[in-house]
Amino acid sequence: MKRNFLVIVSGPSGVGKGTVVKLLMNDKSLNLVYSISATTRKPRINEVDGKDYFFISKDKFLEMLKNDELLEHAEFVNNYYGTPRSYIEETLKQGKNVLLEIETNGAQQVMEKMKGKGLITIFLLPPSLYDLECRIKNRRTETLDVIKERLDKANKELQLKSLYDYNVINDTPENAAKQIANIIKSCMIK
Ligand code: 5GP
Repeated sequence: MKRNFLVIVSGPSGVGKGTVVKLLMNDKSLNLVYSISATTRKPRINEVDGKDYFFISKDKFLEMLKNDELLEHAEFVNNYYGTPRSYIEETLKQGKNVLLEIETNGAQQVMEKMKGKGLITIFLLPPSLYDLECRIKNRRTETLDVIKERLDKANKELQLKSLYDYNVINDTPENAAKQIANIIKSCMIK
């Protein structure tokens, strides 16, 4: 029998979650729908509202939180991020798999809420800490202070890898995506 799942891809900032997730979303055999998060962060160049994120004000975010519209949420380097709940519930009901690309606090909230209820949790690791530092520094979209905060946060997030069902090393995005695709497919046919 085929089952459907909520799939969490988490891991430290800069590990390359976005690239791996894009590759996964292109694989139609995975029957995956991407959960678009709400954030109070300002859009980066090339980011599109309603595609990459729902870019909203802090007031709007707090209102969603008060109305219990978020499955999970977290503050990350002075901005709020959260997963709109209703879209996920509807999509799971339709028999599709839903992919959440979120940081570790939010992932832990979902683990607590959805234990044993069709959840696959994957932690993406960098090949080395040096590699992660280079990636965060080379992104050039943040100020030096923000880069430092993101690096500190990444070091803390790496300690949480054992909480996840699977750890996947992002040596290349193609390899990592292939491994994650295999994990999802094997869970679907169990
Ligand atoms: P960025 O600002 O680089 O887009 O995202 C910062 C961090 O927030 C990343 O680790 C990203 O995975 C995470 N993130 C994105 N959306 C959400 C969300 O809805 N909830 C949580 N908890 N984290 C999120």
